[in-house]
Amino acid sequence: KLRVRYAPSPTGHLHIGNARTALFNYLYARHNKGKFIIRIEDTDQKRNIADGERSQLDNLKWLGLDWDEGPDKPGDVGPYRQSERLEIYKPLIQNLLDRGLAYESYKTEDELSAERERQIEAGETPRYIYEFAGMTDEEREAKIAEAKAAGLTPVVRFKVPVGKVYGWEDIVKGHIEIGAEQVGGDWVIQKRDGMPTYNFAVVVDDHMMEISDVLRGDDHISNTPKQMMIYEAFGWDVPKFGHMTLIINTETGKKLSKRDESVLQFIEQYRELGYLPDAMVNFIILLGWSPVGEDEIFSLKEFVKMFDSERLSKSPAKFDGKKLEWVNNQWLKKISTDDIMPSILHQLAAADLITPADLDAEKLTWLHRMTELYKDQMSFTNQIVEFSKDTFFEMPELNDEAKEELVDTDDVIKVLSAFRDHAQALEFFVAAAIAPEIKAVQKETGIKGRKLFMPIRIATSHEMHGPALPEVLELIGRDTVVARLDKIIS
Ligand code: GLU
Repeated sequence: KLRVRYAPSPTGHLHIGNARTALFNYLYARHNKGKFIIRIEDTDQKRNIADGERSQLDNLKWLGLDWDEGPDKPGDVGPYRQSERLEIYKPLIQNLLDRGLAYESYKTEDELSAERERQIEAGETPRYIYEFAGMTDEEREAKIAEAKAAGLTPVVRFKVPVGKVYGWEDIVKGHIEIGAEQVGGDWVIQKRDGMPTYNFAVVVDDHMMEISDVLRGDDHISNTPKQMMIYEAFGWDVPKFGHMTLIINTETGKKLSKRDESVLQFIEQYRELGYLPDAMVNFIILLGWSPVGEDEIFSLKEFVKMFDSERLSKSPAKFDGKKLEWVNNQWLKKISTDDIMPSILHQLAAADLITPADLDAEKLTWLHRMTELYKDQMSFTNQIVEFSKDTFFEMPELNDEAKEELVDTDDVIKVLSAFRDHAQALEFFVAAAIAPEIKAVQKETGIKGRKLFMPIRIATSHEMHGPALPEVLELIGRDTVVARLDKIIS
């Protein structure tokens, strides 16, 4: 029975890297007709942020994921929040204490950091040094009694087996082996506040939730031997592990980190700019997985069908914002203007270019047509603001480059005046009728090409580039077109 999970810590919003982990677990589950479970790993109380869980789940839903069990969808093996499972961990920690596989450790934070500093200075890898080394039972008891009398609360440490090697067949990376001596000494399974640590709780939960396969980022490889020690201590079956390669920022060549401000990293931010969920999913899955063949544009459903864990990439994935823009543009082209209108209206309203309450049917139709003009060249819907603002909503002063084009040579004035008269005289000011009028101006003035189109475009739309001129003119409307022309001619 294949069961996988995505186990976010609610310490922030949904990051691209976490979304990728969630997506691959989802694909793995759905492709193999297994179950996909969400578990909230919230035992690090200091790092949890208010609303972190809601935001994570909300963004997963926005991406189009659903799950079989989770904090909002209880199954048989809950609760699905670690903070609600403390009563499950406690007896298990006690069990390890009773069997002598774990012990209470009274070294203070000060002692530990002094120890660490000493080791770093000596050029050693920092590790915990057993605090009762070489003591008889009585000496140890005495030391513990003394610490207790001083009011110290202990952590619980797991006794790392000596000389063992932990190895597994990684779904992504093949065979991996890590020696027990590499985990930094006896490690903490229960913190001073009584909370289990991640490496302990994750094992208990994966076991009790019957997780068969664990797919996660390769920053967790060094945790895997610790987790295997716990499976071993309880005699539980170890799940299959797969560690996905890290994501690299193509701009900097470095690992994508949350502190890197050269690139947006949270799903929320892309959502706000008007990226489509289908495009985000598409792009993120290509970060670390490759379909057979040349095609790159696929829906989540199609990815589920095609998924094959053999094709998870073994080398780091390159995060390329330009590629994301391209993928989103491909998706914008695929879907209807109707379907992106809610997002377009949201963007225009956020930029104060429209007031949603004032929109009547006519104005909506107009906005729909305007959107059509720009849809195919948009990378994300927020660009509608930049593309349409000057031409359709505000009349900024012409910039120097545009002014240069309009330096009132006789030709410019000739073209603009002639076109003004044609515009004024037209019965129906619609694109199909406007195009022949521009031709007529060309005949009348003998001016053609760039010298004909550029002055008209700049004078009326205040842009040097844009969609087909007759379409733009129709949407600007005759009155505004004539008024803008008059302003230049006079
Ligand atoms: N809560 C862990 C994290 O956010 C999950 C790691 C795991 O999948 O085991 O990285």
